[in-house]
Amino acid sequence: MSITTLSAPGSEYGPCLDPCGHIDCQEIRHIAQSKCRTCSLDIGYDREIMMLADGTIVHADCLEGVLEKAGK
Ligand SMILES: [Zn+2]
Ligand SMILES: [Zn+2]
Repeated sequence: MSITTLSAPGSEYGPCLDPCGHIDCQEIRHIAQSKCRTCSLDIGYDREIMMLADGTIVHADCLEGVLEKAGK
């Protein structure tokens, strides 16, 4: 599992503000628009997210909540 943060559009490491054809930007936008499996909200930007081994993406703090509930 790796924790990462998507930089907001228009910021130094974020995707372009406007729609563009950059593969990197499209990938970041795609991730940001996908839903957190735990809270069903958009993954979004500037928030710690975690990529699970099966490719699922969740907010890091959401996953911590789940693990706590599971008694871990
Ligand atoms: Zn771009
Ligand atoms: Zn979440």
